Amino acid sequence: MQPKKKSRWKNKGENRAKSLRRRKTYAAAGILVLVILTAAAGIHSCVSQNGRYADVDASEPELDVQLLDVNPYSRPGIQSDGINGIVIHYTANPGSTAQENRDYFNGLQYSQEIEASSNFIVGLEGEIIQCVPTWEVAYASNERNSDTVSIEVCHPDETGEFTDKTYRSLVQLTAWLCVKFSLTEEDVIRHYDVTGKNCPKYFVENEDAWERFKENVGDAMRKSQEGEK
Ligand SMILES: [Zn+2]
Repeated sequence: MQPKKKSRWKNKGENRAKSLRRRKTYAAAGILVLVILTAAAGIHSCVSQNGRYADVDASEPELDVQLLDVNPYSRPGIQSDGINGIVIHYTANPGSTAQENRDYFNGLQYSQEIEASSNFIVGLEGEIIQCVPTWEVAYASNERNSDTVSIEVCHPDETGEFTDKTYRSLVQLTAWLCVKFSLTEEDVIRHYDVTGKNCPKYFVENEDAWERFKENVGDAMRKSQEGEK
């Protein structure tokens, strides 16, 4: 009886070791699956981040040219000193269209309430209206009016965040202007960077979105450069 008993004990010990080994294997497999899932999620978010605007390049976007009348309130007709930067603004007028903003600028010659304008306005549907030629001063960016091109951007609500269509047009327009004036995405600034004004609101309050926007502009420029090779 003794040997049998002994072997039973032995078996118990072996079984315990086996189940321990099995548990360790399961744990290792579990960790491996977690690592794979995390990596996959990381790659996916990377792809969707860059892939979302991967088709936007620096080609000339469709421009609806509606130049303002030359007048002291919105189009002084003064030549710029050469372009050293692109300045991004938001209209601070939720839901207003590019056309309404353009007509407001043009109407300032009659209302004479303030001096204001911009070279371009990007609308809620991604449409782009040009109000002032790029080589002429517009009244948007204070002391940088004479050496920058300004872009006013429409937005649907108080957050100041742009719609996807607006954002795409803004990336393409900015990238095209950068190429046109031999600038890089680092020469793209906010009105905030000139005067400290909370403009464009969403890009001032969300620094990561601002950095991402500049990355998207750089990517669009590189996409066009690769296309030329
Ligand atoms: Zn502004």
